[in-house]
Amino acid sequence: MLPYRLPYFNQFILLLDNPVQDGGAITIRVIALAGFHTSGKHSNSQGGCGSQLLHRQMIIHIGFRQCESFLFFLLQIKMIINIIRFYCLFWVAGAACFYTENMMRTDSYRSFKVLVALLFGAILSVASPIVMADDELVVYSARKEHLVKPLFDAYGEKTGVSIKYITDKAAPLLARLQAEGKNSPADVLITVDAGNLWQAASKGVLASVESDVLKKNIPVHLRDADNRWFGLSVRARTVVYAPERVRDGELTTYEGLAEPIWKGRLCLRTSKKVYNQSLVATMIARHGEAKTEEIIKGWVANLATAPFSNDTKVMQAIAAGQCDVGIVNTYYYGRLMKKAPDTGLALFWPNQNDHGVHINISGAGVTRYAENRSEATKLVEWLSGEEAQKIFAGLNMEYPVNPGVSPDGIVLAWGDFRQDQLNVAKAGELQAASVMLMDRAGYK
Ligand code: FE
Repeated sequence: MLPYRLPYFNQFILLLDNPVQDGGAITIRVIALAGFHTSGKHSNSQGGCGSQLLHRQMIIHIGFRQCESFLFFLLQIKMIINIIRFYCLFWVAGAACFYTENMMRTDSYRSFKVLVALLFGAILSVASPIVMADDELVVYSARKEHLVKPLFDAYGEKTGVSIKYITDKAAPLLARLQAEGKNSPADVLITVDAGNLWQAASKGVLASVESDVLKKNIPVHLRDADNRWFGLSVRARTVVYAPERVRDGELTTYEGLAEPIWKGRLCLRTSKKVYNQSLVATMIARHGEAKTEEIIKGWVANLATAPFSNDTKVMQAIAAGQCDVGIVNTYYYGRLMKKAPDTGLALFWPNQNDHGVHINISGAGVTRYAENRSEATKLVEWLSGEEAQKIFAGLNMEYPVNPGVSPDGIVLAWGDFRQDQLNVAKAGELQAASVMLMDRAGYK
């Protein structure tokens, strides 16, 4: 009897993890245990090869919802092929050991099997049909396709780097990055709202990136102090109102909307939206919890109707006369004005005598396990530069983060205003406190 059988992975354990939150993604964890089986009288006399136990783990992520992108599907296939290669490499290594030790004792059939194994493994180990080239990047984007594709196309034309991307909401993308860990194909995460970027950084999926270009292009209050995320556009969350029903001097500040003169005249979007959570978080940073809670209770007492699911509905309610004033992101105002220029609404810039208008950002970070961190950093740097800033901000009628770039003409026409200089990271740090406070204040 031969002392060893051919080495092989004697166990494959398939674990079906919980479906990733909201993403519809399912993680299949393949744990392969590779070892040499011993048997018979030689079981206690294993040589150097036979005593090894190889333990490796590969994780396959099958995101059914995200697989609609064929290119991304190819990436999933690449992972499966890598698992086969991985299996074969260990098998070949073991086979080589075995062959050396037992060459004299193997019959021709076994020799043939070993040689075939060596050949098959060698071919698979060098020939993967889908290999990520150095000039390819993978981006996970919570910003919609029509807002990122023109940028990726422009970057590709300029540099020859091809960008593969998937788009989804921030929460499932973040959950996916966490679940994928070091096997993630993503190099860059793009998302909206500092609250989401802060969450991504605090969950450890972003890398700290040292870049003089990013420091120069992006003001300090619009990026992470530890360089894990960088703002790429500014969105102002300001007051919108019906000029024919709001008298001069009535509008002053966000806090002023809690005053009794607005009783039955205020419309708000739901507190479940991260934009409002960030707004209230910055109010907590400025006023403390007790005073902020009083203000939010004042807003709730002034509501004309239950909170709406989105900013556009808030503006439509004002236009319809259901209320006189609301709080929205300016790009929603821009979109509505493009569709219905006769809506008769106007923007107001609150808090111009103190801390300024609440702003937030969309931004990006290089992922912790990016295969090509320097290329990923170059992409984010390019996005902060003049050429990309015009496109990045202009496509969604937002404001460039780069002070050297002026906004799109439509946005400029809304007038100049003083921006809050508080670091947007506060929106993330105080997000949980903000959610609890709004709940206590009865803001649904
Ligand atoms: Fe939005």
